[in-house]
This record gives sequence, structure tokens and C-alpha cells, in this order.
Amino acid sequence: MQIQYQPKRGLLATIFQVEILQGMALTLKRLFSKPITRQYPEEKPQIRLGFRGQHALVRDPETGLSKCVGCMRCAMACPSRCIRIRSHKDKALGSRRIIDDYRIESLRCVYCGYCEEVCPVNAIVLTEVYEYGSYDRPSLYFTMEQLLGNWDRFAAGLDQPLEAYVNPFWRPRGLPEHTLPAPKRLPVSPEWSGEQQVVGKNWRQHHGPKQS
Ligand code: SF4
Ligand code: SF4
Repeated sequence: MQIQYQPKRGLLATIFQVEILQGMALTLKRLFSKPITRQYPEEKPQIRLGFRGQHALVRDPETGLSKCVGCMRCAMACPSRCIRIRSHKDKALGSRRIIDDYRIESLRCVYCGYCEEVCPVNAIVLTEVYEYGSYDRPSLYFTMEQLLGNWDRFAAGLDQPLEAYVNPFWRPRGLPEHTLPAPKRLPVSPEWSGEQQVVGKNWRQHHGPKQS
């Protein structure tokens, strides 16, 4: 049996087609109201705190290399399986792991931020860069050099200390702060330390089990 919804209409409404008049009234009203459409690309959107954009590998200012230690946590946490890492142990450096290759296939990324959240040394980050579209797939399959270059360009335009930018968004939520690795326990920027801060103690206060 097919049930069809039939709105009740009076005789006058049918004669004067009030829905059309209502639609025209709405059009007329919008004609004189302030437009809400942003004239992109001339008009850029405001980037909010914690925005997750183009991937970058943070360059260690002391060594000039990536800060990555090859722990593979980001690759394991990634739900899209779009991170590929190759590394080897260097016996001359006390069996330290050296990264041979680090790649991210950004077309498969869902921008969840898990990679930056689990990284114990704050090596991988999603920057505030959002304009990096392309007509070909290979250019969006970021190599290690491209990821380091992404960081260099982004860091050069930052108007705040790097720690102040990176720290608030790179910490696993809901964990006691003393259990986090040292790079995750840097001071939080004042901009982020208020109501929006949902890390550690504050997260438990607002979202954790109620203390009796
Ligand atoms: S943001 Fe999420 S999907 Fe994208 S690379 Fe990181 S973990 Fe993978
Ligand atoms: S989690 Fe961080 S240190 Fe570990 S492999 Fe990924 S980027 Fe490198």
C-alpha cells in the first residue's frame, strides 16, 4: 500500500498559489540582506584553533632532519593506512632507528589527527595549510622531502613559537599528564588553556567519571 502525504490547502490558497508568493517574498527579503557567501579565493576563511590541514614532518632545528624516531605508532594508529615508513637500526649510533623513507598518501587521509596525537616526539603534524589541491595523484603522495618542505614553509609563516602552536593539539586526550612523553607535556598556550582545553586533568573534570 502506498501512502502519499497530501497537505491540506484551502480554496484561496489554491487559487492564489500562496507557496509561490511565499518563495518570492523570501527571495525579495534575501535580496536586501547582507550576503553570507565568502568570495573565495579573494576572501580567505578564518582558520580555527586545531585546524587539521596539510601534513608536515617537523624538522629538528638542531640536526636539520626529521624529528621522527621510527616508532611506527602513527602508521599503526592511522585508520586509512596511508602512512608508509621504512627505517633501519644504526649500530654506530647505539642501535638508533634511522628513517629511510616516510610517505603519506594524503588522498586517502581522513584528517582524524590520530597520527599527530600518538607521536611521542611531536614529529608529524597537520598544519593550517588547506590550499594544496592538484590535478594529479602523485603530487599528493607526499614523500619525506615534501613533508619536511611543507613544515619549512608553514613554520616560516608562523607568528608564534612552534611549541605554542603544536602542543595543544598533539596530546592524547583523557590520559593523566604525568604518563605522557616529555614533548607532550610542554606548557599550553594561554589561547588554548581555557574552556577549550580538554587534555588530562581538565578532560577528566569535564568528561571523566564523577568523583564521589
Ligand atoms: S590524519 Fe588520520 S588518516 Fe590522516 S594520516 Fe593521520 S592518522 Fe592517517
Ligand atoms: S609516531 Fe612520530 S616518531 Fe613514531 S614513526 Fe610516526 S612520526 Fe615517527
